[in-house]
Amino acid sequence: MSEGGDEMNSSALAHRASAAAADRRWPQPLIEGFLRFRDNHFPSDDIEYLRLFSEGQKPKFLIVGCCDSRVDPALIFNCAPGELFVVRNVANIVPPNEARIGHHGTTAAIEYGVCNLGVEHIVVLGHEHCGGIQNLLKTRGAGNPDSFIDDWMRLVESARVSVERDYVHATEEVRGRACEQRAILVSLKNLLTFPWIAQRVAERALRIHGWYFDIKQGQLLGYNDATGEFEPL
Ligand SMILES: [Zn+2]
Repeated sequence: MSEGGDEMNSSALAHRASAAAADRRWPQPLIEGFLRFRDNHFPSDDIEYLRLFSEGQKPKFLIVGCCDSRVDPALIFNCAPGELFVVRNVANIVPPNEARIGHHGTTAAIEYGVCNLGVEHIVVLGHEHCGGIQNLLKTRGAGNPDSFIDDWMRLVESARVSVERDYVHATEEVRGRACEQRAILVSLKNLLTFPWIAQRVAERALRIHGWYFDIKQGQLLGYNDATGEFEPL
């Protein structure tokens, strides 16, 4: 088939998808975005996608990020498909190794990344103005027992308590930033409660990092355990 024919097919397909979306009230911007993605990437990157499809994924980096729509790890780190294994949840929290009650989506993803994919680095990526952390500071450990968010945020309650203690006279902004960063440290500690992580870290087959994305400044900070500070990378 000629290139012109392909273009016509693509256009007809786009039109059909557009009509179907309007009919079913699908979110049209997402469908249009997918069509742009397919048109822009598949003709040039199809070899890469074919390789990823046939060889499978071998990402070296596991990112634990926040659900926040402003902090997409693939965008922030300018990574291509296949480079990042990402798990996102409210406030980028890693729960501790605990009894097998409930469902552990974040832990399952981390186990898969470490034990099955063999990632070499885990980055817990926190960020400025995190809604989950703001909620934690607002409820002061006395959230609604029926709220999944309040219950989830109790995982980093120790960060809140230490910030309330150490930043008595600080502004809300400063306390929020401190709590966002201390919550990352809670997650770093929790990562080491899993024996399959602790062992790999001890063998230097795996490294774990606490990073913080400053949205306003467009700056990336990393936790330096020698200084105990988050420093520009
Ligand atoms: Zn967040």
